[in-house]
Amino acid sequence: MDYVTIPEKRIPVAKNTDLLVCGGGVAGFAAAIAAARMGAEVFLVERYGFLGGEATTSLVITVPPMNNGFNKEICDRLTKLGAYGPMRYPAADPMAQGIRMEAYDPEVFKHEMVAMLREENVGLLLHTYIVDAIVEGNVIKGIVIENKGGRQAILANVIVDATGDADVVHFAKAPYVNDAEGAIPMTMMFNMTGVDSDKAIGQIGNWSRVHDLLRESVERGEVEFDLGMTMKAGAPGVSIENLVYPDEVNIWSGNLFGRSGVDPEDLTEAEIITREHAYILAGWLKENIHGFENARIEMMSTQVGVRRSRQIKPRRLDSDGVVCKPYCNSTVTLTYSSLVPEVVDSLLVAGRCVHAKEDKFGGIFRLIPPCLNTGQAAGMAAAIALENGVTPAAVDVPTLQQDLIRAGQELGL
Ligand SMILES: Cc1cc2nc3c(=O)[nH]c(=O)nc-3n(C[C@H](O)[C@H](O)[C@H](O)COP(=O)(O)OP(=O)(O)OC[C@H]3O[C@@H](n4cnc5c(N)ncnc54)[C@H](O)[C@@H]3O)c2cc1C
Repeated sequence: MDYVTIPEKRIPVAKNTDLLVCGGGVAGFAAAIAAARMGAEVFLVERYGFLGGEATTSLVITVPPMNNGFNKEICDRLTKLGAYGPMRYPAADPMAQGIRMEAYDPEVFKHEMVAMLREENVGLLLHTYIVDAIVEGNVIKGIVIENKGGRQAILANVIVDATGDADVVHFAKAPYVNDAEGAIPMTMMFNMTGVDSDKAIGQIGNWSRVHDLLRESVERGEVEFDLGMTMKAGAPGVSIENLVYPDEVNIWSGNLFGRSGVDPEDLTEAEIITREHAYILAGWLKENIHGFENARIEMMSTQVGVRRSRQIKPRRLDSDGVVCKPYCNSTVTLTYSSLVPEVVDSLLVAGRCVHAKEDKFGGIFRLIPPCLNTGQAAGMAAAIALENGVTPAAVDVPTLQQDLIRAGQELGL
């Protein structure tokens, strides 16, 4: 590879804050709210012009019931607005093996996230890409950002990396593992509207039949479709679910393996391949499934959905314990060390870049309800660290647990 040398350059400090949250997906949003409610000064940076990450950007809008801690608060808020509800055909649940899945309206969610950040006086900078970390010794001091204003710095006492891909961890050179081979697939999600779901279900019996019918069509040579069609590595392949509105469906357009979610060339290829397949699938549905005759693609993901990329290696802590329990009715939990990277201090992570063992990560911890709750835990831990003048690694976990319980997260202790 060729290189160029860029001359040393002074860049302006755009902001100096107590807590900086990097990335405005569900985890970053939750971390910002949780820390602000504990009195911390919080600033959140996001590359897109709206919040939600994959939960809005990638049209991932079906969830296991959100019934514990911060995820319950979101469920209640969206339900009041008529923007959250159970699936219309729960038997078709493709991914949660018997869990009754629910769905929400991503546009209402986007709107509510900004409203909630404003209610808590969280500072927000959109359209801003994080491109580097500022580290002195083993302490992270800030990040380098780029936006229409050029290159700038943001300094902070504590940073939560909620970029999903652990970009800040990567730039700060803290240890992580990376799914560079794309063992967990990417998927392009899209919504179709104008669907007569009753008519479709009348023909096929259940949405889960769609991938079988598509495969038979491929075998007969009627359509070319090269992506994974059935459930693999926790990803449904080709599948359909009804959303909160009767004529709208959310579609998984196949599993693309072998591409890295943090390699720009792989991502470019993935966008092209998966968008093409989404159009093939939409056309096939219109021609082959009753009820789709008048349907159209309503929207496609802003970007291809990446399930897994980088995840931190957890730090061995003096004080550790459960700080995230995604669901009331399950015993699955995550401990604080899963949010604390090794080596680099003043840094926490939340969301899909936390440490979790593969079996737990695939089925549980990369989903939206746990990402919201790891965000809540990371935000509260950051606020405690700031208040006590200690690093996140030195936070007293029993204190954090008490604060989480007071804030409504049942930890099963
Ligand atoms: C196809 C697919 C289907 C899924 N199905 C389900 C499902 O049915 N139910 C379920 O509960 N979960 C599902 N998931 C998982 C779930 O959607 C995600 O794991 C979860 O939303 C991740 O949230 P997050 O906040 O950790 O990360 P992300 O959503 O990735 O958010 C990261 C945020 O950081 C921003 N960002 C990233 N890098 C930078 C940077 N360098 N500078 C500035 N900003 C940056 C991004 O724009 C984004 O807003 C699915 C995921 C995929 C991809």
